[in-house]
Amino acid sequence: MTRRTWQWCRGWALWRVPKSVLVLILVVNSLAVVVTAGTAFLVRIDVEDLARFGILAGFAWASIELTRHIERRRSFAHQAYVAHVDPTNVWFFAGVIVLPPALASALVLVTALLMWYRVKERKAVPYRRVYSGATTLLGAQTAILILSAGMSAYPGIPSESLPVSLVDVGVIVLAAVFCWAVNFGLVLAALALYNPTVRASDLFENFNEQLVDAAAFGLGFVSAILVVHQPLALLGVMIAMVVFGRSLLVSQYEHAARIDSKTGLATAGRWHDFAAEMLSRARHHQTNLGLLIVDLDHFKSLNDTYGHSFGDDALKSVAEELRSEVRELDACGRWGGEEFTVLVSDVGSAQNVHRVAERIRLRIQSIVLQPPDQTDETVTISASLGGVFYVPDETTTLDELLLAADSALYEAKNDGRNTVRMTTAGTAQPPADDRGPVSTTDSESGDDADTETVRRQDSE
Ligand code: GH3
Ligand code: MG
Ligand code: MG
Repeated sequence: MTRRTWQWCRGWALWRVPKSVLVLILVVNSLAVVVTAGTAFLVRIDVEDLARFGILAGFAWASIELTRHIERRRSFAHQAYVAHVDPTNVWFFAGVIVLPPALASALVLVTALLMWYRVKERKAVPYRRVYSGATTLLGAQTAILILSAGMSAYPGIPSESLPVSLVDVGVIVLAAVFCWAVNFGLVLAALALYNPTVRASDLFENFNEQLVDAAAFGLGFVSAILVVHQPLALLGVMIAMVVFGRSLLVSQYEHAARIDSKTGLATAGRWHDFAAEMLSRARHHQTNLGLLIVDLDHFKSLNDTYGHSFGDDALKSVAEELRSEVRELDACGRWGGEEFTVLVSDVGSAQNVHRVAERIRLRIQSIVLQPPDQTDETVTISASLGGVFYVPDETTTLDELLLAADSALYEAKNDGRNTVRMTTAGTAQPPADDRGPVSTTDSESGDDADTETVRRQDSE
C-alpha cells in the first residue's frame, strides 16, 4: 500500500465513530460480503435471467430518476436518527424472488448505488452508504435463503402459472418480513449505538413509515409476477410508485407543519389554529377556558453550562410532562424556543386554571436531568407560568388572551420565577399594576429571591 493510500484510509470518518459502532459496521459489512459470496453460486444464471435483470434494473433506474427530487426532499425532512424508508425496495424484492442470487444481489447493489448517487449524494457519509448497502444486502440474503429453502420452485414464480400456491405466498411473505427485519434492525442498532442519548420512542418516531416498506414488498411481489408474465405492465407499478412517493412527501410536510420535531408537541401555528377553534366553541357554547404560557427559567444559562443538546433534552422532558398533564394532543404547543402554550378547555373556574398551572410547574420542577459530563451531579429546572381565565364574551380575541397570559408571565418572572401568575381575560395590565381578580401568589415557590433556578445537586 502506498503512503498516500495509507493516509487516505487513515482519514476516513469511519475511524472516528464510537468503538461499538465501528465493531458493528465492520462485522455487518464483512458478513454481507461473505453471505453474498456464499449464495452467489446457489443457482446458475441463464439468458432469460439476464433479460429479467435488465428489465428490473431499467425500471429501478427509471423510477429513481422520476422520484429523485421527491426522495431527496423526504430524506432531508426526517430526523437523522430515524431510519429512512425508500420505496425502491419494490424492484430489488422482485429481483430476490425471480432472479438467481448473484443477479438479485447485483440488483440490490445497482439500486443502492443509484439511490446514493442520484438521491442522497449531498448528505451521505461514505461509511454510512456502505453500511446501509450492507444491511440491505444482508436483508436480501436472508430472503434468498428463506425462498430457496421454502419455495416449490426457486428462483422464479412457481410453476410459471397463476395463481401462486398459498404455501409459496406464505414463504414470500416470510422472506419479506425477514428481509425487512434484518435491514431495519441493523440500521436501528447502528442509530441507537451512535446516539446513545436518543430515546427508543424517538428511534421509532416514524414507525408508521415502515408501512411504506410493507407496500414496497407487496408491490415487489406483484412486480415479480409481472416481470415473468407481462413485463410491460411494470409501467403501471412504476407510475404507482411515483404517485405514492408524492403522497408520502405531502404527508411528511403536513406532519412537519403540525408537529414540532424537537418536542413532538403541536407547532405554534397548529396550536394557534386549535386555540382559535376552541375559543370560538367556548363562545358559542358559553363555556370558559384557560390559557397558559410556560417559560423555562434561566434556560440560556442551562445551555451555556451544559450545551445546546442537553438543553434540547430538557425541552423534550418538559414536553413529556406537559403531555402527561394535558392529554389532548393539540392543546400543548411549542410557542417558541423554550416557551410552551397550553389550552385547557371548559375548565370551570380560574382556580382550576391555576391548579393546572401549578401542577405543571411542579412537574417541571421535579424533572431530574443527568448532565453529559457523566458526573454524579444532577440538574433540575424550573418554569414560570402566566395564565388567563376566559369567561365567554363577544369581543375577546385569542391574541388578547395570549397578551394577557404573557403579561401574567412577565409578572411571574419579575416576582422571582418558578411561580404562577394569573389574570382574567381582557384585564391584561402592565406588570406593575393591579394583577386582576385572580392574581395568585405562590410564596414558597417564588424562588426565594434566589434566581439561580438551574441548580446542580450532588446525588450522594
Ligand atoms: P428567563 O428566566 O428570563 O426566561 O431566562 P432565559 O434564559 O430562559 O430567557 P431567554 O429568552 O434570554 O433565553 C431563552 C434561551 O432559550 C435562549 C436560547 O439559547 C434557548 N433556546 C431557544 N430555543 C432553543 C432550542 O431549541 N434548544 C435549546 N437547547 N435552547 C434553545
Ligand atoms: Mg423565553
Ligand atoms: Mg426563559
